[in-house]
Amino acid sequence: MIVETFTVGMLSTNCYVASSQETKETIIIDPGLDLSSEANPILNYITVTKLNVKFIVNTHGHDDHIKGDALFQQKYNVPICVHTLDEHFIQDSEKGKFPPNLLLKDGGLIKVGNETLKVLHTPGHTPGSICLIGEKLVFTGDTLFAGGIGRTDFPGGSMRDMRNSLKKLMELPLNLLVYPGHGETSIIVEEKRSNPFLNSDN
Ligand SMILES: [Zn+2]
Ligand SMILES: [Zn+2]
Repeated sequence: MIVETFTVGMLSTNCYVASSQETKETIIIDPGLDLSSEANPILNYITVTKLNVKFIVNTHGHDDHIKGDALFQQKYNVPICVHTLDEHFIQDSEKGKFPPNLLLKDGGLIKVGNETLKVLHTPGHTPGSICLIGEKLVFTGDTLFAGGIGRTDFPGGSMRDMRNSLKKLMELPLNLLVYPGHGETSIIVEEKRSNPFLNSDN
């Protein structure tokens, strides 16, 4: 899987364009644009590398991750995928504008060419936060950051859920690359070793 990172919006959200090297099938993860002009480098990249966009996937429903959904959906006419419990964020933001979203749940599979991403439900930051697990990588949204974790003090957030979700992430293969919703990439083993939020029992 080839991952290209575009940092977008005022909150510096990582929008990932993840594609299959062999088939060119592609998903756009978290296009949280503030300005439509921020889409241009992403659109260019997709055009120049001749990618075939299949889905837009939101790791959760916060504005800084979904605001570009409509723009990319209009361009590529593909479903927007979000966990059932975060669907309302998208409906609330753009009522009636979207065709039916593809609703995700724990254990669901997203095919990208001959690679598969598995949906891991990781509530805590929002009720419908998800991580996407591939063979060598995991997209963690605002659940796990390099050296940090997502806030749990927004409506619907839960520190108890967050702890359970982080536990699930720490059971993943140690060598998985971590692609978070904000900030630098990491590796599961590195977070296990040094992330202060994963090592305390509080
Ligand atoms: Zn968020
Ligand atoms: Zn965010």
